[in-house]
Amino acid sequence: MENKLRLEIVTPYGQILSEDVDEVTSAGTDGEFGVLPGHVPFITTLKTGVLIYKKGSEMGYVFISSGYAEVSSDRVIILADSAEKAEDIDVERALAARRRAEERLKEVEKIDFARATAAIERATIRIQLAGKRVVK
Ligand code: ATP
Repeated sequence: MENKLRLEIVTPYGQILSEDVDEVTSAGTDGEFGVLPGHVPFITTLKTGVLIYKKGSEMGYVFISSGYAEVSSDRVIILADSAEKAEDIDVERALAARRRAEERLKEVEKIDFARATAAIERATIRIQLAGKRVVK
């Protein structure tokens, strides 16, 4: 579709989103980036964060747990480790995941520090994002 971007978000758990949108902003490992139709092609790694898309007057918010983005003039393909639309985030589950990871951090000799802090980061961003609904 002319002047639109096809936004596809795919994870090992399934396809999370497939929409024609006007604009995408996401968290690359080298910083936030924005894409409009006609963008030059590029590929980047993504850090755990929030993808925001604009569709007409609507804004959509999606949690992304690291991965890759492949951008071309009419397409943004996100391959993420996991992802959820803001409205699908289960806050109780994220709170429990964060509590578990925080408990692991206390067991200093046994823990995998990077794994526990990554779990805390995922849970914290999910908790922050969970209240956001698509704005119309
Ligand atoms: P948990 O310990 O609760 O599984 P996690 O951060 O280890 O959290 P992931 O490995 O990122 O979970 O995701 C596994 C699957 O569970 C994915 O399909 C992801 O979308 C889903 N998921 C994880 N946490 C939540 C949540 N709080 N709300 C909704 N879906 C979630």
